[in-house]
Amino acid sequence: MDELKGLPEATVIHDSSDLEPFLRDESHMVGLPPLAVVKPHGPAALRELVRLAKTEGFGLVPRGAGTGKAGGCLPTPRSVVVDFSQWPGDIRVSPQDLCLSAPASAPLREVKAAAQAQGLFYPPDPNSWESCALGGTLATNAGGPNACKYGMTRHWVLAVDVLLEDGEIHTFGISSVKANAGPALSQLFIGSEGLFGFIVGATLRLIPQPREHTTLLLPVKRWEDLLDLPGRLCGDGYLPSAFEFFDPAVLAELRAHGPETARRLPGEALAILEFDERGSTSEAYLEGLLDLLGPMAEGLEIASDERQRQNIWAVRRMTSVFLKERHPKKVSEDIVVPRSRLREFFEGLDRLGCPAVTYGHLGDGNLHVNLLAAGDTEPALLERQLMDLFRLAVNLGGTLSGEHGIGLAKREAFLALGDPAQIQALRALKQAMDPCGIFNPGKVI
Ligand SMILES: Cc1cc2nc3c(=O)[nH]c(=O)nc-3n(C[C@H](O)[C@H](O)[C@H](O)COP(=O)(O)OP(=O)(O)OC[C@H]3O[C@@H](n4cnc5c(N)ncnc54)[C@H](O)[C@@H]3O)c2cc1C
Repeated sequence: MDELKGLPEATVIHDSSDLEPFLRDESHMVGLPPLAVVKPHGPAALRELVRLAKTEGFGLVPRGAGTGKAGGCLPTPRSVVVDFSQWPGDIRVSPQDLCLSAPASAPLREVKAAAQAQGLFYPPDPNSWESCALGGTLATNAGGPNACKYGMTRHWVLAVDVLLEDGEIHTFGISSVKANAGPALSQLFIGSEGLFGFIVGATLRLIPQPREHTTLLLPVKRWEDLLDLPGRLCGDGYLPSAFEFFDPAVLAELRAHGPETARRLPGEALAILEFDERGSTSEAYLEGLLDLLGPMAEGLEIASDERQRQNIWAVRRMTSVFLKERHPKKVSEDIVVPRSRLREFFEGLDRLGCPAVTYGHLGDGNLHVNLLAAGDTEPALLERQLMDLFRLAVNLGGTLSGEHGIGLAKREAFLALGDPAQIQALRALKQAMDPCGIFNPGKVI
């Protein structure tokens, strides 16, 4: 595309073989070849891109590390991919203000490490935290195992720097948890999937690093016994910092074909529970937990040191990658139901006869329901299976996405099942923020 040739402060990629990697993310979707990929190095590039997008009538598709699972960063017709991997900036921690500022390009692992180096904690921990970029986690409002205690990315954002349709960068929010001069517009951009502009950086809230962790492997003979446990724990005053689970089918796959550490996993089904509050490693705390678990505690294993703890988490974190390697055409969803309705959800799934296996964040009701045979399923049937699944979650007071977002993959379902008033409000916001429709067109709405 000739217009992009003189773009300042940018690397521009035109060659079709070099564009190939940008047609995919970690979803099952494939994008269309973009007009080009631009890696901006400074604001002049973005300013000019916005001007050209408006005059030449093309879309701008933001991309972080491309680990998204909803097709959100995939190019749509007549679009330019804007890859933020070379966006400049440093990670700066302020222990006095208990906050950290970082550019969108910062790898999430470096953001978390910078906080940790000062004895501080940035909790959001998508299982892709070693490979995703901060900008992507902000745009998708990423969650992870820790969300069941610490909430999602949006709960940790104090301010966000955004490039708007005027071509300029604006900051929404301040470096303090207290800011009430009008509605918190910064939150509009968190989870916006690039619909309203580009996130170029953010200021994040930190807390002191937890110093104690009790990590438990809880194998069960009847996996349904796990379903009431998240609610029972919370009802009894225990708030796990993570509560993950594998159903019998996923556990069997891991045990039969997974890495060495996975082959020793016990139980018919298995939960990983972690508690990180002060005193959680004390005998009294553990005794209380054992009392609550009762006969379920038979077979319980406790990580005795940090190495064992990391081994347990390594198995959990590789589950998605492992399943994808074994079933490359699988479809992985991330529905949510309230903790109190988990049992009803699984009963409903049984009634639907949905050929799904499930693992994920049981502690907050966010379940990765995987259709492993999706690649061999007739498309109309697959669509019906997915719509039935989403409808089940929504009818139980849940939602069709707990963390991956809508992107391209769930757009049709979102429009079909979403509250019409909310969709209308979202469209009105989009029109107000992006009247020319240049930012991530064809996604979400
Ligand atoms: C193995 C694996 C495990 C995962 N586990 C989790 C998990 O536990 N929890 C979870 O939430 N997700 C998880 N994910 C999904 C994914 O990693 C997250 O959604 C992550 O936040 C995406 O970050 P990214 O940098 O790769 O973004 P991308 O995939 O590049 O983009 C994601 C979306 O954000 C938009 N975007 C990216 N950068 C910007 C920007 N600067 N400005 C505006 N919009 C932008 C894109 O247009 C797209 O819509 C997992 C993925 C994998 C592969």
